[in-house]
Amino acid sequence: MIESVDLEPDGRGGEVLIARVRPKGGVGSRCSRCRRRCPGYDVSRQPRRWRGLDLGTTQVYLQATTRRVSCPEHGVVVAAVPWARAGARFTTAFEDTAAWLVCHATLSVVAVLLRIAWRSVSGIVTRVVTERAGAVDRLAGLRRIGIDEISYRKGQRYLLVVTCHDTGRLVWAGKDRTKETLGRFFDDLGTERAAALTHVSADGAEFIHNVVAERAPRAVLCLDPFHVVAWATKALDDVRRGLAGELRRGGRAEEAATIKNTRWALLKNPRTLSTDQRSTLAGIQATNGPLYRAYLLKEQLRAVFQARDLASARRLLTGWLAWAQRCRLPAFVKLAKTITKYRQLILNAVEHGLSNARSEATNTHLRLLTRRSYGLSPESLMAMADLTRGGLCPPLPGRAA
Ligand SMILES: [Zn+2]
Repeated sequence: MIESVDLEPDGRGGEVLIARVRPKGGVGSRCSRCRRRCPGYDVSRQPRRWRGLDLGTTQVYLQATTRRVSCPEHGVVVAAVPWARAGARFTTAFEDTAAWLVCHATLSVVAVLLRIAWRSVSGIVTRVVTERAGAVDRLAGLRRIGIDEISYRKGQRYLLVVTCHDTGRLVWAGKDRTKETLGRFFDDLGTERAAALTHVSADGAEFIHNVVAERAPRAVLCLDPFHVVAWATKALDDVRRGLAGELRRGGRAEEAATIKNTRWALLKNPRTLSTDQRSTLAGIQATNGPLYRAYLLKEQLRAVFQARDLASARRLLTGWLAWAQRCRLPAFVKLAKTITKYRQLILNAVEHGLSNARSEATNTHLRLLTRRSYGLSPESLMAMADLTRGGLCPPLPGRAA
């Protein structure tokens, strides 16, 4: 219940609204960790404040005297308050609003709109996720999963993430791309649920293939089309940069600059090219044989995954390999070796129509998140990803459904 409401100078020329509150009888003597009723221990001398949702443009704080209780399990801890989560300096309504916003806007927008620091956003997300994850078993009913590596700290560190191909949700994440980390996922999953997995897609990492073969022997292993296309895109980029470098060294700076500017036309899906990019491509076709050849190689490899059926995919892939092996572009000759090695896993992906569109969206989102939140701990990153892509977004407070 509210005892009094006052405006107080905020020290920056404005005012904040302070609502002095007191929990209604009884609630004040529960442990904030387990909500169990416990004997009181003592009463704090200094009242505590929790940031609440703004009233118009004015920041609102709830202020209350807190008690500590003596919990048989958790020892002497702060008593639970009905308006905030344990350890939070924000009200539950404020935190749910922040978490909902994180799912619908960029982190910087959230921080500016709510006038909170990045660190606070990450703390809020962790608390909301911990609370909501307890209620959801995200490993239940998995059939087709994708295992992926996401780099953070500028590619120095990795998260291993598991997404569900059917829902597109992130279902598990662990630190470091190692067989031990993946082993922990299968430990969490358990033998019975691992046996129910029908398809597992992954990139070319050997350790993933080995662990999957051992722990989910009945699942068909597929090479993620996303990665195969990404390899081809990288090879094309290598060819383009190599040619630009050669031209520059040969004193043909203008032509080198032209090639440099073709990057987006070359890398984009042809169906989404702008008119300008189409003419750029036509220009390359007319003047630069090797670069155009590299472009076609990339596009034909992509076409393998869009083939009508397995037989046409097989034909396209065989044709692609023959062409790439004798294309005289070192980046593609090398790629042909890799593709030969994973030929069966690529055809598995085609045969089983493993659409990774949803999990790809999740991974793209994760990559974006890791790039932006440089400096956040992997735990915060995982919590953030759980919230936005793990189906844990809370409803906005005060709205029915
Ligand atoms: Zn307790």
